[in-house]
Amino acid sequence: MTGCRDVMGSPRQSSSLLVDRFGREVNYVRISVTDRCDFRCVYCMAEDMTFLPRAQILTLEELGELSAAFVELGVRKIRLTGGEPLVRRGVIDLVRRVGALPGLGELVLTTNGSQLRKYAGALKAAGVRRINISLDSLHPDRFERITRAGTLATVLDGIEAAREAGFERTKLNAVVLKNRNHDEVSDLVRFAIERGLDISFIEEMPLGVIGDHDRGEAYYSSDEIRRDLADQFELIPTTETTGGPSRYWRIPGADTRVGFISPHSHNFCDTCNRVRVTVEGRLLLCLGQEHSMDLKQVMRAHPGDRNRLKQAIIAAMDLKPKGHDFRLDAQPIIFRHMNTTGG
Ligand code: SAM
Ligand code: SF4
Repeated sequence: MTGCRDVMGSPRQSSSLLVDRFGREVNYVRISVTDRCDFRCVYCMAEDMTFLPRAQILTLEELGELSAAFVELGVRKIRLTGGEPLVRRGVIDLVRRVGALPGLGELVLTTNGSQLRKYAGALKAAGVRRINISLDSLHPDRFERITRAGTLATVLDGIEAAREAGFERTKLNAVVLKNRNHDEVSDLVRFAIERGLDISFIEEMPLGVIGDHDRGEAYYSSDEIRRDLADQFELIPTTETTGGPSRYWRIPGADTRVGFISPHSHNFCDTCNRVRVTVEGRLLLCLGQEHSMDLKQVMRAHPGDRNRLKQAIIAAMDLKPKGHDFRLDAQPIIFRHMNTTGG
């Protein structure tokens, strides 16, 4: 079943004009603003990455136009991500433009934290309401090994800068790998509690060829993490949601929510409300499938024609597949890396 597909705003069954063949309303878009990054996390990238030439990626102007089109179609939440969004030159101008879009409920950002000391205040002033910061380890040497290029102290200082800037419910994201950082989950939760932060643990997804490790061997499930945490904390399940794939637990006496993003052990496709735009302007209907629509081509063939862009986005909803089918025991069927995809 589909909802109304009229861009011009005739009566409709839901608040978003974007409804897929399975009746799921799309009101959340994640946009990758760059494939570049100052880190090379072992689960995300190969050590020796080649990044896309500038002409192939969306300009800041195109990113702004795209965001405006999505909001006019009923999208209420936009996440800017990457790559590392804060290494894109001019990103604050983009944030300002998107943050000012009438009708957008929430502008959020995912970052590795390395540039937050410099940008946290400007992001807050430009309209970012919440941020997610990746933090996989509290040991400097491990942190460096996992990110291949990051410095823990810089990221911890970035987290402090975010706290000082006063974002709502800053969340830490940790990808958990067996024998790399799985023994740190309780310490990470404690770190979050002490600072009044939320935290989500993520199961690694088989996106792109990374060369560093066997993803099957490194798999550590959300159930195992919860079991480990249960030794130290009382975890109470909740039905709370931030509109993303995390399922949350609470710890009595703490403000912290502990979330789990479990693409393998608890597939979240039934309630999927989101799509992604890759750094090349490909509208990706599912993280784990290749169904997509080339919006860069639409924008470059018809500059300034927002209605045409909106029609293309609406048409793409019919391509959204029922769900993903990640397999850790096979070669990746998805060859794009997370940094181009927009995690
Ligand atoms: N650079 C920013 C960062 O690291 O937060 C934003 C982009 S990054 C691709 C977004 C999120 O995806 C991060 O939390 C990262 O840990 C996660 N991620 C990257 N590759 C992943 C993979 N193969 N499986 C699961 N999560 C992954
Ligand atoms: Fe960069 Fe984020 Fe990928 Fe790490 S996860 S390499 S910080 S884009």
